[in-house]
Amino acid sequence: MPGPLTKPPWWRDALSAGLDLVFPAKCIACYRDLADGQRELSLCSDCETKLELIDWRVCPRCAAPVPSTNGVDLACNRCRGDKLRFDRAIALGSYEGLLRQLVMRTKADRQGVVTRALADLAWQRLREQLLALRIDVVTAVPMHRWRRWQRGANAPQMLARRLAERLEAPCAGEMLRLVRNVPPQVGLSRPARFRNLAGEMAVGASYYLAAARVLIVDDILTTGATCSEAARVLRRAGAADVTVLVLARTPAGG
Ligand SMILES: [Zn+2]
Ligand SMILES: [Zn+2]
Repeated sequence: MPGPLTKPPWWRDALSAGLDLVFPAKCIACYRDLADGQRELSLCSDCETKLELIDWRVCPRCAAPVPSTNGVDLACNRCRGDKLRFDRAIALGSYEGLLRQLVMRTKADRQGVVTRALADLAWQRLREQLLALRIDVVTAVPMHRWRRWQRGANAPQMLARRLAERLEAPCAGEMLRLVRNVPPQVGLSRPARFRNLAGEMAVGASYYLAAARVLIVDDILTTGATCSEAARVLRRAGAADVTVLVLARTPAGG
């Protein structure tokens, strides 16, 4: 006979975790109960206004803020000189403040609650822009196996899957593969970062990309070197147009 102190059966926790996943009732950032109208995003309106979501002029190529003087936009000084192989980059926000905290949480977000909420926010804000691109297939920047194991979550793949559902486009999350171990990028100069990644990725042999318009999804864009290498191999496999979508663009430096 189970006594009064017996733990509830394992499935009860699993069941309530499952229900929370389907109907998350608390804000992912401040954990306050959500009003009915806020449940769709899993984010309360207070927290949403705190997010550094891009509503300023950005470089269409690398999504960095474009400086302007007297109302005239100047050329982007972030990607100048870089050989970026993707056609454009779109970022939901800037990698700072609350958005930075949430993006960092997606890295270990096994259940995908935060990741899905950010994907949905991206869809809400960028829907028109993404639909206009007539994307044929969505993919994700590949992650090293050991890192996936270490973190327990593959945020880029989760994001790609969610956005593909919204776009009603196929998701080929495993299309890009890592073919060699790359030495860490930390401490390398910008040109060295681009060189360091050459030959890192390949497109799986079973994918046929003739003239496809591809969306690559990642969590953060810093130099763009990784996404550029992904775009390079996608083009070599036949892609006609490559867009990069990230949750956050690093604000400066990098
Ligand atoms: Zn909140
Ligand atoms: Zn730029």
